[in-house]
Amino acid sequence: MKKPNVVVLGAGYGGLMTVTRLQKMIGVNEASITLVNKNDYHYESTWLHEAAAGTLHHERVRYAIADVIDQSKVKFIQDTVEKINLEQKQVLLQNHEPLTYDYLVVALGFESETFGIKGLKEHAFSIANVNAARQIREHIEYQFATYSTEEEKRDERLTIVVGGAGFTGIEFLGELVNRVPELCREYDVDPNKVRIICVEAAPTVLPGFDPELVEYAVNVLEKKGVEFKIGTAIKECTPEGIIVSKDDQVEEIKAGTVVWAAGVRGSRVIDESGFEAMRGRVKVDPFLRAPGHEDVFVVGDCALMINEETNRPYPPTAQIAMQQGEVCAKNLAVLIRGQGELQPFKPDLKGTVCSLGHDDAIGVVFGKKIWGTKASVMKKVIDNRALYLIGGPTLVAKKGKFKLL
Ligand code: FAD
Ligand code: NAD
Repeated sequence: MKKPNVVVLGAGYGGLMTVTRLQKMIGVNEASITLVNKNDYHYESTWLHEAAAGTLHHERVRYAIADVIDQSKVKFIQDTVEKINLEQKQVLLQNHEPLTYDYLVVALGFESETFGIKGLKEHAFSIANVNAARQIREHIEYQFATYSTEEEKRDERLTIVVGGAGFTGIEFLGELVNRVPELCREYDVDPNKVRIICVEAAPTVLPGFDPELVEYAVNVLEKKGVEFKIGTAIKECTPEGIIVSKDDQVEEIKAGTVVWAAGVRGSRVIDESGFEAMRGRVKVDPFLRAPGHEDVFVVGDCALMINEETNRPYPPTAQIAMQQGEVCAKNLAVLIRGQGELQPFKPDLKGTVCSLGHDDAIGVVFGKKIWGTKASVMKKVIDNRALYLIGGPTLVAKKGKFKLL
């Protein structure tokens, strides 16, 4: 009997978890497994704000895919997925011949969502992948270097706007407030000239999170120089900065750097492939399959699942992507062997920890509120655990965060 072809698209948390679990469950003769990813490395998306601020070198954020896959069982193709042809069960790639699948796992992750706001795509940065994060770091540093050498000083060069006070915006601000004093020293810039402004459309920072912890985070960040503009929406981005509106009042904020951290969506490949989807996210069945396509699993930020308790979608997180990868691998093993029953996916949410730089954080873990040093240590434990689940102790030893404070 012909071995089934399993093709996994994307080597983020969901894709790598699927592959590393499946390679342990399945023998070489049972299935052919192919993993496709743009780069030959995986990056920890959850650490990208550190690379973007320049508080962690980008090499620390990524590792070779070859280090975690069993190459006797998994064929790796470095390429960009352009489209999935659902009728013909084919994946179209930029530089290779189309791949045919019996079972497909779509794990292409997130992209920045600008909601059609004018000028954002052209003039704002987003923390979307490792090179985008490097570009932000380089750009901010360039602004400091230019300011210190230009004769007619333009103070707005040193204004950094962060759009959105969700978890990404707040974690990035936490790194930025630690990096800016270093940049001021490196480039002989007066710290009083630097402005870090966070613009949030909702009436509060971290909408929906515990109010006491939100207050703690806002106090920490304000003390370190962040100005919050709450209940204020970014309406446009220009080469000079942003235009915001609050209570029908419009204001222009001139800034040398604008980082858009106010929205994510699933992959555009989803939209282009004819799935029933919303902003690149497919509403999957309980077994993580795309409706009408029982041979196609979708995991991670491209999957949408409703939390029946709140009647709202689960947020797109690494925590859920990894758990889905694990269930997806089990379900693929059932289908490949034609034995056993498919397992429905039920998230096991352990909590959320939001860093405020390398030495502070806030969080709710197993229903308990934590903040300060304890939360910061917990955040590093979570970061190391993600490495452990995919690459075991060797990967933790190579890439883990051991400087706890
Ligand atoms: P991704 O991690 O986005 O991986 C997708 C992979 O697919 C990448 O390797 C990408 O290169 C590849 N790819 C994309 N398109 C193509 C293509 N066309 N062809 C080939 N390859 C492609 N979540 C948490 O739970 N905890 C946190 O602390 C946390 N912190 C975060 C901090 C930041 C700064 C950000 C931006 C997000 C954070 N998240 C966090 C959310 C989390 O990162 C995402 O939910 C998670 O990365 C989704 O995993 P994924 O496997 O779906 O996709
Ligand atoms: P998000 O959608 O959670 O937050 C975006 C924020 O931007 C919201 O507060 C929204 O009100 C605001 N916003 C939207 N449009 C705006 C506008 N025009 N002007 C000003 N503000 C605007 O996005 P995110 O923070 O990137 O998070 C994405 C996902 O990643 C979430 O599921 C989040 O839980 C997860 N994440 C988790 C962590 C963590 O657990 N530590 C860290 C980062 C991200």
